[in-house]
Amino acid sequence: DKGQHEKKLIESRLAEIGQIIMVMANKGGVGKSTVSANVAAGLAAQGYRVGVADADIHGPNQSRFFGFVGERIRLSKKGLPPKAFEYDGLEHPVKVGSLGFMMEHDDTPIVWRDAYKHDFMHHLIGSFDWGPLDFLVIDMPPGTGNELITLADMLEGHDVAALLATTPQEVALMDSLKAVRFCQERGLPLIGVVENMAGVTCPHCSGHFHVFPRNHLAKALESADVNSVAQIPLSPALSSGSDTGAPIVVTDPEGPEALAFAPAIAAC
Ligand code: ADP
Repeated sequence: DKGQHEKKLIESRLAEIGQIIMVMANKGGVGKSTVSANVAAGLAAQGYRVGVADADIHGPNQSRFFGFVGERIRLSKKGLPPKAFEYDGLEHPVKVGSLGFMMEHDDTPIVWRDAYKHDFMHHLIGSFDWGPLDFLVIDMPPGTGNELITLADMLEGHDVAALLATTPQEVALMDSLKAVRFCQERGLPLIGVVENMAGVTCPHCSGHFHVFPRNHLAKALESADVNSVAQIPLSPALSSGSDTGAPIVVTDPEGPEALAFAPAIAAC
């Protein structure tokens, strides 16, 4: 029946995937998609075969971050073909699977009931023809809702780890560590926290300052027993890299943003 067929399909896709990294955040707008794209591209820059699955149903940005705005894909015999992001020096293209490729218009809002969201999570992994991958980076929807549970259930028994994106301000609030508790309760290994928008460097005087207070940060992380694996600055180059469709870790691999991402990529 349909359920069995779907399960088999998902298992056959997962059998070819090494490590799965779920990039999570407790709320939207903290840079979860930016972290997903740059970590994925950074792993690809090291020669790994990498896929990015855009599970952020309400804000599917990966098509934009990898330069595929407005592009559409069609189902073929082997499934939905992910888009291949190529860049000078990348041995393997980054394979991007996004709902953005299947929407009628780029600005169509997604108003799905949970049952469809559940289906979508299955489609994202099962329907895309990912092929053999060393890493599949999943850009999760914000929060610890249904989608996360569906996906965690589906991936059980596979090599899965979570990477949490947050701003220093958010992580300082214990509430923002709900995702950490989710991982701990589920026994999902947590790679660590990427602090995004952690400081700005002045383009004029090169002085560095913090926008968000970091006072409670270390304490909150320590009491939750999580490591901070990277501090990513608030940077115009980083956002314009996303807007122009090529992650900065590949376009400027020696720049301060790429260097800031390096420890997070190494931790994967
Ligand atoms: P989320 O996935 O958490 O909703 P995004 O990654 O989409 O967040 O980031 C939200 C917006 O902020 C995007 O336009 C992105 O380009 C921008 N942004 C994220 N992180 C940074 C940063 N460190 N410096 C500059 N702009 C950033």
